[in-house]
Amino acid sequence: MIPEKMMMLGKKSNSIRALFEYGKKRKAEIGEENVYDFSIGNPSIPAPAKVNETLIRMLNEKDSVALHGYTSNAGDTAVRSAIASNIKKRFGFDTDANHIYMTCGAASSLRISLNAIIMPGDEVILLAPYFAEYTVFAEDAGATCVIVSCTEGSFALDMKKLEEAITPKTKAIIINSPNNPSGVVLSENDIRQLSELLMRKQQEYSSDIFIISDEPYRELVYGGVSVPYIPCFYDNTIICYSYSKSLSLPGERIGYIMVSPRAKDDADVFFAVCGSGRALGYICAPSIFQYLVAECDGMTSDISVYDTNRKLAYDALNEIGYTTASPDGAFYLFIKTLEADSMAFCEKAKGYEILLVPGDDFGYPGWCRLSYCVTTDMIHRSIPAFKKLYDSYR
Ligand code: PLP
Repeated sequence: MIPEKMMMLGKKSNSIRALFEYGKKRKAEIGEENVYDFSIGNPSIPAPAKVNETLIRMLNEKDSVALHGYTSNAGDTAVRSAIASNIKKRFGFDTDANHIYMTCGAASSLRISLNAIIMPGDEVILLAPYFAEYTVFAEDAGATCVIVSCTEGSFALDMKKLEEAITPKTKAIIINSPNNPSGVVLSENDIRQLSELLMRKQQEYSSDIFIISDEPYRELVYGGVSVPYIPCFYDNTIICYSYSKSLSLPGERIGYIMVSPRAKDDADVFFAVCGSGRALGYICAPSIFQYLVAECDGMTSDISVYDTNRKLAYDALNEIGYTTASPDGAFYLFIKTLEADSMAFCEKAKGYEILLVPGDDFGYPGWCRLSYCVTTDMIHRSIPAFKKLYDSYR
């Protein structure tokens, strides 16, 4: 016998992957240029030049055995120190190598962190819309997910609903800003309000509530918007960072966890992170890419194309008559579907060769996600199809 739960997770890929596979098949059938594939958040811009230069230099100059060898379980100490000093430089926040654990991207950062803190009976709050895999990671760590919807349209935190959702069992809240799929960025004021609420609730229940801040899109912001560094505002914070999007390296699987040194019993929490990484087999993140990010941390690919695409998609769809969120970050546009059943709407969109992900996957039915990390040309070419789709509902 094998566990039904795991078998089902393997059998039923999430609908983003399913749509991505459908897109590949459809492009083979009718030609790449005839499918408007907005399904997946795969960066469409190259890594900064320094990434390849550093890789080549490392391959030529570093001792090859060391370069390909194991590091410490938590990652190379010099790499972790370099990241810590960069955090100090960029955000004015003091941390060190003993609070940083190198991982295979945000997915493993999240899974390790949840496993490190969840005890039987604990609840984890997810703010809808949320990245679909959160439920998989949190439930597999043994938590019960409590969903709190953000305000429709603005996708701002609904502080009243959030307050009602926090119980003595609440162990963590996962936040993701800039957000996938809404593109919304939480302001300093939002973070202050959230921190005050959580501090009050911790006191009321004599509990510890962690903010797990999932930050793969931290650097992908437009129009001068800034993304507050959560540990500056709230002590019990665990950062789950990834270089997948900032450096356009999603296939290389590299990121880190930073347990705030200000968290209660921070050393124990960090031990638990190390233990969780060990138990899950997530040790020694890819060595070459650890060394690489030590040199490229804080850099960002040239995101001007994303910004162009963002404005183009936002303006074109709103002009046709669609209602969309107003994204300041990431590379997604969240669109209100033209019928309440977003799955049915996305199926209908397929008839116009437009591939969109239903909001149901993000805990937010009635909306759907368009990934604009595509070519600008494809967005231009897709506009008449969006118009026809819109007119089909008139
Ligand atoms: N969190 C969010 C919000 C994401 O959008 C993604 C990937 O798209 C991940 C986590 C996983 O990222 P990684 O490739 O770093 O594992």
